[in-house]
Amino acid sequence: MITIGAERLTGFVTEIFAKAGCSAAEAQRVSESLVDANLTGHDSHGVVRVPRYVTQLKDGTVVAGRTVKVLSETPVLAVVDAEYGYGAWVTPQAVDIGIEKAQAMGLACVTLRNAGHIGRVGQWAERAARAGLVSMHWVNASGSVLVAPYGGVDRRLSTAPHTIGIPRSGQTPIVLDFATSMVAEGKVLVASQGGKALPADALVQPDGSMTGDPHALYGAYEQQGGRDYKLGLGAIRTFGDHKGSGLAFMCELLGGSLTGTAGTSFERGRFANGMLSLYIDPTKLDPTGFFPDDVARYTEFFKSSRPIKAGGEVLIPGEPEIRTREKRTADGVPIPEDTWAAIVKAARDVGVDERTIQSAGA
Ligand code: NAD
Repeated sequence: MITIGAERLTGFVTEIFAKAGCSAAEAQRVSESLVDANLTGHDSHGVVRVPRYVTQLKDGTVVAGRTVKVLSETPVLAVVDAEYGYGAWVTPQAVDIGIEKAQAMGLACVTLRNAGHIGRVGQWAERAARAGLVSMHWVNASGSVLVAPYGGVDRRLSTAPHTIGIPRSGQTPIVLDFATSMVAEGKVLVASQGGKALPADALVQPDGSMTGDPHALYGAYEQQGGRDYKLGLGAIRTFGDHKGSGLAFMCELLGGSLTGTAGTSFERGRFANGMLSLYIDPTKLDPTGFFPDDVARYTEFFKSSRPIKAGGEVLIPGEPEIRTREKRTADGVPIPEDTWAAIVKAARDVGVDERTIQSAGA
């Protein structure tokens, strides 16, 4: 494991995307989004994705420099097409449309279709919360068929995340943000590169048996080579049996079908995230100011439950991320050697000079 300060890591990854063909501003935005995922502890959505993001630009899966197109709108609705722009670049454009409408009207609904990978969805709920808004997001990853529904062994779903953000004045927002699969695909990627191992029942094989071995998803691979989830015969399982499977199904219908991205399928091929977002201005829904006080009261009540294990603690959604962010901002971002080697290879491939590469990891 190597540890790199967030600022140095952001600078290096920015350099990679700039050399790959992004403008300076876009390269920085994409880099900041990835490093921020690492800072919150979601390494699955962090810099481990650099090689894949670069390949996606080269093979045309994503397109640099996109400005989103608003296909139709009303004062409270917008239908937004990202036209396969980098998720970290196009998603804030769509979120800002929702923020503006919700601040004017109290409520807004924005559909985002055909976005490149939008990364950790919680970052978009945090963006809305910084503007004082409650937000809800249903996301699918069309073309990325990875997850078996409850009771099945064949892949039919994407990892379809669901996210809710609640702003708190003077405090970090409350953010519930998870994949409806037992683990995000990036966590299988991280495990396959020597990072945190998967739970032993995270994946299901064609014969119905459970495993935590990443080969079930990727098939055979070389340690420092690429990973292709189309090559494995197994599937990731949904969380929470029929409940997680049902929520994932709804993410496909809301994030996929209703946004015009389409529920995931093998035929689609090209990867895209679709996201249905609702934004609510709590000050318009609750002019008496009951909501912030009751959020504080209820949070305290929730956390006061006695822990199962001595020394344990009940956390609210978003708390683990806050703590990890504090620690990693101070101590740096830990990166497994194999992940770093793959990032360095991507840097060399796009022509980052050797001195920059050497000083990034020093
Ligand atoms: P996870 O299983 O780590 O769950 C994270 C959520 O659970 C957070 O809200 C966190 O605050 C909360 N949490 C974790 N431990 C807790 C505890 N002990 N007590 C209370 N709350 C706790 O997340 P995941 O399912 O692995 O997803 C990781 C990331 O992947 C998410 O940010 C998600 O948006 C992202 N994702 C993105 C895509 C995409 O296509 N863009 C697809 C899937 C997942």
